[in-house]
Amino acid sequence: MKKSIRPENMSVNVYYEDIHSCPICNSKISPIYLYGKALFNKSKFSLFCECPSCGKTFTAFYDSLTNNKYNNMSEYNASDLGYIAPIFPETKIFDEKISNLSPNFVETYNQSLSAEKYNLTQISGMGYRKALEFLIKDYCIYKNPDKKDEILNTFLGNCINTYIDDDKVKNITKVSVWLGNDETHYIKKFEDKDINDLKRFIDTSLYFILYNLNADEAEDIINSQQ
Ligand SMILES: [Zn+2]
Repeated sequence: MKKSIRPENMSVNVYYEDIHSCPICNSKISPIYLYGKALFNKSKFSLFCECPSCGKTFTAFYDSLTNNKYNNMSEYNASDLGYIAPIFPETKIFDEKISNLSPNFVETYNQSLSAEKYNLTQISGMGYRKALEFLIKDYCIYKNPDKKDEILNTFLGNCINTYIDDDKVKNITKVSVWLGNDETHYIKKFEDKDINDLKRFIDTSLYFILYNLNADEAEDIINSQQ
């Protein structure tokens, strides 16, 4: 939703796209907009905001400021939200079983998440692809401990084909790898997919792995009662 503010160096309103989360506490919010400043010579716009959740202030920078004229009135439009500062690295908390299975996945995923928050999308995409490799290979090693060396030295796609039985899960992990590879190659194969699709498929792979880890634990409990 568009909102507007009257910057101190302007006599008309500037309309801008609403901000939905706080870069400091990561809460989903509707910020309190305190102050706007138009940078006419650079066609940019800065917005000073307060988070109603943590009470801290931050600044949003819009990369475009354009003049819209209608009915002989003038108004400005700020768009292309470039970045919000300050940025604090975000840490996603994973289930303890996932952290134990693949600490490398958790570390690489969270580094990628931080890179994404800094708008380093070229790097974050590659990072998610690497995190996915740790996750799937560690899971395959957990299921086939005697094949550890083979798994570590096999391409991820081959690993999935060989060690993941369920066809639906095979498809999910396979597509995750394809989307991840797209983040590392010069030419993108799946133009209509982006980093959010990759994260969505990684999340789904995580559900499958966690489901299996919990099922194995339940089986152990049942066996211990016999
Ligand atoms: Zn906050």
